[in-house]
Amino acid sequence: MHLRHIQPNPTRMKRLMDLLRSHGKYDERVLSAISTIPRELFLPKSMSTEAYDDACLPIGELQTISMPSVVAHMTSLLELKGTEKVLEIGTGCGYQTSVLSKLCKRVFTIERHKSLSVTAVQRLHDMGYTNFTPLVGDGTLGWPGQAPFDRIIVTAAGPWVPEALVSQLAVGGILVIPVGPQDAMQKLVKIVKESDSTLSESFCGSVSFVPLVGEQGIKESVRDYRRA
Ligand code: SAH
Repeated sequence: MHLRHIQPNPTRMKRLMDLLRSHGKYDERVLSAISTIPRELFLPKSMSTEAYDDACLPIGELQTISMPSVVAHMTSLLELKGTEKVLEIGTGCGYQTSVLSKLCKRVFTIERHKSLSVTAVQRLHDMGYTNFTPLVGDGTLGWPGQAPFDRIIVTAAGPWVPEALVSQLAVGGILVIPVGPQDAMQKLVKIVKESDSTLSESFCGSVSFVPLVGEQGIKESVRDYRRA
């Protein structure tokens, strides 16, 4: 069967949605989008059973798909209405991209690992998504040729908020990003660009993300040294 005709497993999806609803803090539009997306299509077949657990799972290249509750939380913070141009840093397996695609006008999504990007793009096309534009590269530099963005979401954690992303955010726009150390929990930060010179910042909980590796993130050389 073609991927676009596959429906989420009803029993497992109901259990996941009951759990997410019990948290009582996510945007209902985000929950409806999540409820329609078969998460197992983003994971190897051997993980189909765990696909609806509220867990992050390996997707290759030492990276992980985010927990559904974290996807629900971060996407809710973006306050999407459907008209926005969104920049996503960290395509990964494309799951977060699929949620965004259902809730905004177009997603521009950057991934530094070519192998992950190629697989995610093929999968999203097979599932019928058309309103996204992928790029392989360093997302800490943003995507100057497509800026400004109404929303920016970063799904990897850096030591600070990359300046390029703040400058590519439209006035009135929202940026959601985990910030903090690699080896401990990070703070989820929401930044609203009130005007060209005014940002308002709020902390929206603790999260645990893979490192944001790039020029305005964790330097590749530092990361290699730490892993050695
Ligand atoms: N949203 C993804 C989560 C993937 S994990 C999903 O739903 O699957 C975070 C991803 O960010 C990884 O794939 C990692 O390779 C990528 N990443 C890390 N630093 C990056 C950077 N500077 N630019 C682009 N992608 C980056």
